[in-house]
Amino acid sequence: MFDEIIPAAVSSIGTDAFGDLAATFATGAVPAPQKYALMNIDGIIDIWPTGLGIGASLVQNAPPSTYPPPTYLRGHEFNREFHTETRKYGILIKQPVRFPTWMRAIELGYNGCWYCQPDYNVVAVGQLRVEVAGNFAPKPEVTAELVNHVQRFGVTVAPGVVHLRRRTRTYFAPLLVPGSWKVTITQEDWTITTTVAVGKAWRSQDQVHGDATVVHAEVGSTTVTTTTVPASL
Ligand SMILES: [Zn+2]
Repeated sequence: MFDEIIPAAVSSIGTDAFGDLAATFATGAVPAPQKYALMNIDGIIDIWPTGLGIGASLVQNAPPSTYPPPTYLRGHEFNREFHTETRKYGILIKQPVRFPTWMRAIELGYNGCWYCQPDYNVVAVGQLRVEVAGNFAPKPEVTAELVNHVQRFGVTVAPGVVHLRRRTRTYFAPLLVPGSWKVTITQEDWTITTTVAVGKAWRSQDQVHGDATVVHAEVGSTTVTTTTVPASL
């Protein structure tokens, strides 16, 4: 009876669960960035009132892969530019967003680097920030979502929900694809949305052209206003 039940119970855990087991049991032995580790399941199965235990040991030497490591384009999360992996600037990005193809980068609203991805470079970018007045406890959250249809290089741009970063009371969006963006400001059960035109800003030589869009809101209020100021790229 037990012989039949236990293997079924173990197989029902699924392979993903062993990643968690490895992280729980061998935290000290697994380098921090490694989420999964190879384990030999070599012990007997123990059953306690609180759960199931499986004897396992960490496999120290993973078999070397004969495949070359994949190459990815590397994007910067805030300036939203993507680069080749070998290009110096691409290497320097500390926590790059990795894209398997340029289409995926364009889809997520990233812009090709002027130097290493010139075929996918669009000169104009959109600058958006949100200034929030009023009660700041807890701190409001600000997001933006592209709501008009934008195509670039034959790809429909769909960046999803973009989170703005807060510095004191001003929230900064990463450099956006110009277009109509729905801005949502939320604090607990208060929320306000407004759709704004994020215009084009670009740089030529030493000059910055175009405008940045600035949304002004106050926590608890239904009034929201939008102004533009000269862009600062
Ligand atoms: Zn580059």
